[in-house]
Amino acid sequence: MSECPIPCNLCGSRDVDELGSRDRDGRPLRTTICRKCGLVWSNPRPGADDVRRYYSREYRLDYKGQATPSLRHTARSGRGALNRYRGLAPFLNAGDRILDAGAGGGEVVYVLRRRGFDARGLEPDEHYAKYAREQLGVPVDTGFVQDTVFPEGSFNVITMYHALEHVEDPSQILAMLRSWLAEDGLLLVEVPNVEATCMSPGHRFHFAHFYNFNRETLEALGRKTGFVTAESKTSSDGGNLISVFKRTSQPAAVPGLEGNYERVARRVRAHTPARFYLSPAPYAGVAGRLQAYIADRSAARGALGPKGVLDALLKRSETA
Ligand SMILES: [Zn+2]
Repeated sequence: MSECPIPCNLCGSRDVDELGSRDRDGRPLRTTICRKCGLVWSNPRPGADDVRRYYSREYRLDYKGQATPSLRHTARSGRGALNRYRGLAPFLNAGDRILDAGAGGGEVVYVLRRRGFDARGLEPDEHYAKYAREQLGVPVDTGFVQDTVFPEGSFNVITMYHALEHVEDPSQILAMLRSWLAEDGLLLVEVPNVEATCMSPGHRFHFAHFYNFNRETLEALGRKTGFVTAESKTSSDGGNLISVFKRTSQPAAVPGLEGNYERVARRVRAHTPARFYLSPAPYAGVAGRLQAYIADRSAARGALGPKGVLDALLKRSETA
């Protein structure tokens, strides 16, 4: 047990326990868990200016090895965008104004617009945002949520895929997104699941992920910032959490999450390399990735630019 200089973003407690001391590349990274609510975060983390610089220019480069996506990456992101669209579609109404916060190369915005929605994006990485505007022809502004101003009630739906784990103050970000939503507006948040067992235990903590959530802490963060949960689920491999929140009139008190710290700590510590490599998960992962690589390469072959890749995927999804 120790006192953390960074208070818990969900409940404000500084009483933490240590869950890990290395990141997925073996570099030192202290990961702490709140003993009151079970939220997991990195301590220390880089200074605010370094974080800004990293996400405005270097992150995608670090992650994907290039400043803008190749056609094969576009095919992969396009498949992801179609999957996301399928999950989102039951919540959409004709004419919805939609914001994708952390829009990457703009593939989700592209798919939504092709499906007739008034969608736009916000993306801190200047290369990716420019790529979305120039190569896909979709409105994606360069910027961080915390620097952006939209009038209250600008959107019916906001989506945030794999971005909330990268921000320094998730409570502040969700409160801002709430203010941009219409009354009864919806917010979809997808983040990695800290309880997942589908990836190697050594790969769980990433230095660019400041926060790690389970379903309980993600839903509690929603309640704290003025939402009720309309639906929560995990991806089929258990790796990701997806919560759809509905805007309410009032933020609510942070609910007690008794037992959640013990549960998260137990699950993370029980996910050992020995157990992982004896399970089917790593082998399913390799086979699946290889299959996906081949599919993406063939989707990219012969396509006329990134729009051609996405249009072919959209067309295929209509006949499938
Ligand atoms: Zn806490």
